[in-house]
Amino acid sequence: MLELIKRLYPICRSITGGGVRQTLDILESHIAIERHEIASGTPVFDWTIPDEWNLSRAWIKDSAGNVVVDTAVHNLHVVNYSEPQHATMSLEALSSHLHSLPATPDWIPYRTTYYKRDWGFCLTDRQRKSLRPGMYEVVIDATLAPGHLTWGECYLPGESDREVLLSTHVCHPSLANDNCSGMALLTFLAKHLRDRRRRLSYRLLFIPGTIGSIAWLARNEARVGRIDAGLVASCVGDRGNLTYKRSRRGNAPVDRAVERVLQASGRSHRIVDFVPYGYDERQYCSPGFNLPVGCLMRTPNGEYPEYHTSADDQSLVSAEHLADSLQTYAEVCVAIEEEISRDAGDGRSATLLQTRSHQADRATQTTGARDDSPRYVNTQPKCEPQLGKRGLYRATGGSNHPGATQMAMLWLLNFSDGDHSLSHIGEKSGIDPILLTHTADLLVEHGLLVRV
Ligand code: ZN
Repeated sequence: MLELIKRLYPICRSITGGGVRQTLDILESHIAIERHEIASGTPVFDWTIPDEWNLSRAWIKDSAGNVVVDTAVHNLHVVNYSEPQHATMSLEALSSHLHSLPATPDWIPYRTTYYKRDWGFCLTDRQRKSLRPGMYEVVIDATLAPGHLTWGECYLPGESDREVLLSTHVCHPSLANDNCSGMALLTFLAKHLRDRRRRLSYRLLFIPGTIGSIAWLARNEARVGRIDAGLVASCVGDRGNLTYKRSRRGNAPVDRAVERVLQASGRSHRIVDFVPYGYDERQYCSPGFNLPVGCLMRTPNGEYPEYHTSADDQSLVSAEHLADSLQTYAEVCVAIEEEISRDAGDGRSATLLQTRSHQADRATQTTGARDDSPRYVNTQPKCEPQLGKRGLYRATGGSNHPGATQMAMLWLLNFSDGDHSLSHIGEKSGIDPILLTHTADLLVEHGLLVRV
């Protein structure tokens, strides 16, 4: 897995473009992958497949002709999805397009601008402070034009056509733990599963984050009913303990399987409830799908200081921890098959289980004082609605945590299924009730929620 990470790490990936195809080429030297493409401009639920971005090189030169920032040195130096650019400007004009991290002055941040035409450079704060007033030449030699979104699928049929969905994102450029580790883990898990008896079928997805899972769900909507369990793999190579984030259902076979394996391991681990923030589980667990998909990782996104910076390099991942993650995933696959055959033996179907959990949830809500706080229904329950095009989401992505209002939107959209009241969402999320109420009003104004 470390060898594979070494090959994947230098590639300038994004949500579309040659970097994803090159990545799939490398993974294909290990496992059979079926490639899928969707043309730019194609609608997928509330989203549209964006133009394809391909970068040759981007650099900044000072007035003496010295190259001071250069993607040939590190591909995080350009804001991912920057529009092409060639201009000469003062440092003052340039500075609004520069991103650095004063608290960690030797690290380059990872920033993206997928859905808003913009451009920029990321650099260490030390580099930034060394820039003297004067004129600078900036070049972003890139194309941003109609093309395709690409993803890969590895399907391993089993005795039953009921499926386990395993998903990882393939859109991050040179970042090792997030998420070369996830790609390496799923590749080696596929090699392991390929040679074993499989009661269930396994579908491994290598997809660009967010838009990739949305596109996959849009294309496979009629078939998602056969998914009995699923896991999103990200951040699986760092030295932290394993963390499991439950599916939105909370008690699905995958939840029981992972918890059982982690408990039996006797090692420190953490199990957390579903939150509507993270990776592609946000889409799989959107209320219109509510698939039994959890997220098994080591240190979660945003919780390690190197996250989304150049310090998430190959020194952050270790063979020992990758191996431990892979071993755990392999054991979880066995445990999932056991849980599902046990359910089948008991005559319990996944639907029935879901109903029970739903009833339990309702019971919890009705045991306390009468809950007369308002309830809403999400009008776009299949995947997250695209908040950016409504001016409801920050344009530049990549920073550690969204703002409080954005978190409130994600909670309201995910849990406004008519069953969860505003005060119940407040309890689950810990978000201030006033902020939650204001945010619900905002989403109603934009037609994303209706009061019931
Ligand atoms: Zn990430």
